[in-house]
Amino acid sequence: MDGKCIRCSKPAAYPVRALEVRTLHVRSLGGERRVQALGNETEGAVCEACAKAQLDLDTNPIKAVKPQLIRFGAVFAAGLAIIAATLLFVRESKQVFLLLGLAALVCGALGIYDAYRRANEKTAPSARYRKRKRWRKRLGTYILPKRRRRKTTTT
Ligand SMILES: [Zn+2]
Repeated sequence: MDGKCIRCSKPAAYPVRALEVRTLHVRSLGGERRVQALGNETEGAVCEACAKAQLDLDTNPIKAVKPQLIRFGAVFAAGLAIIAATLLFVRESKQVFLLLGLAALVCGALGIYDAYRRANEKTAPSARYRKRKRWRKRLGTYILPKRRRRKTTTT
């Protein structure tokens, strides 16, 4: 395969077809808004490393948000440590340190929640559909009433 990778310009290994997404900025008195439209279908190619990276990202979306999870996990842990240290060692003006620890806890928890939400968005729709179907099936065996087949009368 000749040509260069559309991501990193190394020699390409796999052909890809992609749809262009064009963004139009519409400025008016009410402000600016963006309108997106599909453009032409383009042919390109990607290298082995980029293809593998994209496959990893599609199959394991948690891996893609791992740095964010680690960062906000550290903030959360720092919040716990500040609160614990304040309760154990600080004698005066505890409220300031407790508030700081609480703020770190809330920030960490929100960051972790956002990372999981983004990982869930990156999950392929078919995988989400399968997960939902599996969940409904499991729920159906315990809670939901069984669907009855409609009787048809023939005369
Ligand atoms: Zn590449």
